[in-house]
Amino acid sequence: MENTIEKFDKYVIHSYGRYALVMENGEGRRCEDENKRQYIDFGSGIGTNSLGFCDEKWSDAVCNQVKKLQHNSNYYYTAVQAEFAEKLCETTGYQKVFFCNSGAEANECAIKSARKYSFDKYGKGRHNIITLVNSFHGRTMATLSATGQEVFHNYFFPFLEGFINVTANDIQDLKVKIDDTVCAVMLEYVQGEGGVNALEKDFVDEIYKICAEKDILVIADEIQTGVGRTGKFLAGEHFDKKADITTLAKGIAGGIPMGACLFGEKVKDVLTPGTHGSTFGGNPIACAGGIVVTDRLNSLGFLDEVNKKAIYFREKLEKCKEVESISGMGLMIGISLKNKSASDVAKSALENGLLVLTAKNKIRLLPPLTIDYSEIDDGLDILIRIMEG
Ligand SMILES: *Cc1c(COP(=O)(O)O)cnc(C)c1O
Repeated sequence: MENTIEKFDKYVIHSYGRYALVMENGEGRRCEDENKRQYIDFGSGIGTNSLGFCDEKWSDAVCNQVKKLQHNSNYYYTAVQAEFAEKLCETTGYQKVFFCNSGAEANECAIKSARKYSFDKYGKGRHNIITLVNSFHGRTMATLSATGQEVFHNYFFPFLEGFINVTANDIQDLKVKIDDTVCAVMLEYVQGEGGVNALEKDFVDEIYKICAEKDILVIADEIQTGVGRTGKFLAGEHFDKKADITTLAKGIAGGIPMGACLFGEKVKDVLTPGTHGSTFGGNPIACAGGIVVTDRLNSLGFLDEVNKKAIYFREKLEKCKEVESISGMGLMIGISLKNKSASDVAKSALENGLLVLTAKNKIRLLPPLTIDYSEIDDGLDILIRIMEG
C-alpha cells in the first residue's frame, strides 16, 4: 500500500482528497484492498458501477467486445453503437442520442445544442441558460460556469457568460429571471453533489409550464439520477416529465467511461455534420457495457426490486437515533446527521469495511442497483453502529 500511495503522491496530481485505500479487486457488491481487507460497497464508485463489480454478463460482453473491435472512428458505423442507441431511445422515449465519454461532456453537448436551437430559430441574444443554486454540472469551463455553487467559481477566471442562477424551488425567483434572453433551463431532479435534495413537484411543473409557453428548452441533467438510480429509468418519470434534452453518464455503462445526450422531437436535428463531435464518443466497449446495463434494468421486475430495496434502506435508517432526516429518491440516499460529521462517519465506515460517499454535510449512499438484502443488512449494521457510536 505504501508503495502505491507513495507513487501517487509523487506522480499523480493532488486534485482529490483520497482515502488511504488501495483497491485491488471486486466481485458483486464487495471489494478487496491490496491487504485482502473486504469492503461492502454503498457507493458504486460514484454511482458508476450500477451492476456492482465485474458482473458476469457485463464483463463477458465487455471482454468479448475488446477482443472483437475496441475502437472505431465515428467516420464509420458499428453495430454495437447502433444497438445501444436504439435501446436507449426505446427505453427512454427519446428520438436521438449523441454519445460522449463523461457527464461534463454530455452537459457541454446539451448547452451547445440549446444555444444552437435558439440561434437557428431566433438569432442572436437568446443564449442564457438558467441553472439552479446548489446544482452541479461538471468540471469543464462551461459546466463549471453552469454550476450554481460559488465555491466552484474561483481561480479559473474568466468563466463563461450566459448562466443565470435561480434558487431551487423558488417559483418567484424563476419568474423574475426567465426573460426573453433565456434559451434553456437546466436542472437535476435530485441535486446530487449539492446535497441529495429532490426538487419540489410544483417547482418542476412551473418550469415546464413556462418553458412550454416561451419555447424555452428544458435540459435534465440525469447524470447521477438516471439509469435506474431513483427507481425509474429516468428520474423525470417521477415528475411525469420528459425534458427536451436529457444527459446521462455515471451508471450508464456500468463503470466504463461514457456519457450520452438524449434529444427529443424538438431538438433532434439541431446538431448537424461538423457542429459537434468526440473522438472516443460511442466507443464500442462502452456501448457493449451499456447494452447489458440497459437490458438488466429493463428485465422484468428489476426496477421494482430497486424501489423495494430503497424502502428497506430508508426504513432501517429511520430507526437510527443519530439520523436527523433522509433525503433523495430510490437508491440515491442522503442522510443528515444530528451530531456527527458526515466526513468523520465516512472515514470510520471505511475503517470498518464499508464504502460510503458524502455530499455537502450529508452521508450519501449510491449502492449498486443489484445489491441484495443481506448486503444491505451487513452494510447498515456497520453504518448505524458508527452513527450511534
Ligand atoms: C457527476 C456529475 C456530473 C459530471 O460528470 P463527470 O463524468 O464527472 O464529468 C455532472 N452532473 C451531475 C448531476 C453529476 O452528478
